[in-house]
Amino acid sequence: MIKVKNIGYKYPKAKTSIFEGHNFELEAGEILAILGPNGSGKTTLIKSLLGLLPIFEGEIKINGVRSYVPQHTLSPFDYSVTEMVVMGASGQNGLFAEPTKADFKKTDEALEQVGMLDWRDESFSHLSGGQRQMILIARALVSSPDIMILDEPTSALDYRNQDKVLQTMKYVADQGKAVIFSTHCPLQALHVSQKTLLVKNNTPSIFGLSKDVLSQENLSKLYQLPIARGRLEQSEIIVPLYS
Ligand code: ADP
Repeated sequence: MIKVKNIGYKYPKAKTSIFEGHNFELEAGEILAILGPNGSGKTTLIKSLLGLLPIFEGEIKINGVRSYVPQHTLSPFDYSVTEMVVMGASGQNGLFAEPTKADFKKTDEALEQVGMLDWRDESFSHLSGGQRQMILIARALVSSPDIMILDEPTSALDYRNQDKVLQTMKYVADQGKAVIFSTHCPLQALHVSQKTLLVKNNTPSIFGLSKDVLSQENLSKLYQLPIARGRLEQSEIIVPLYS
């Protein structure tokens, strides 16, 4: 469904590339996690996958409709939650088409899925950062994508809401869609994604099965901090050993 071969990107006025030689593949029903330190090019890579930034080398093959959940969105108008989410349907209906009854039904279902149905008539701009994130995910769900791409979807959320987002991504993948998300949390990657891409400036990226790629050795090198992976009761855990 997604095949990325040896891609590189450089900002127009920059001397050096942000990344080079990224390779990965993803099938329908799979989740890919992208991990890397701040400034390692995760957002830039996501924008390249969305076709917003032109790569200077390599090839991106994507079959299907993509939908994007940005890290932050501020609405210039005072939209209600429902208005914000139903906009997701405009990709199929055309930007200026009136939403249909079916679109509003989908909107309610998506809000239910992310646990925000009770907020449907509230103003989007009055919501907390975490709640807005859930609304942006609901909007992406309404666009019925084949591939959902999320930029650090859990970074502003408390543990319970992080779990809700992870469960929603799993739900989307279980519907036969591909999901790509960036995160600073290796444990989340281990928990939900079949595949992981590790990215770091001036270093070849590492791609493979999450259970193999998210090793103590790879993660400690990636973040330049000792990181331990082990078991606690029934669960696998990954923890940084702060200095
Ligand atoms: P991450 O998401 O991993 O934190 P980004 O993709 O946001 O990384 O940024 C990677 C690098 O690209 C950073 O060094 C950042 O300063 C640089 N960068 C981001 N946007 C631009 C831009 N529009 N022009 C030039 N450099 C940029």
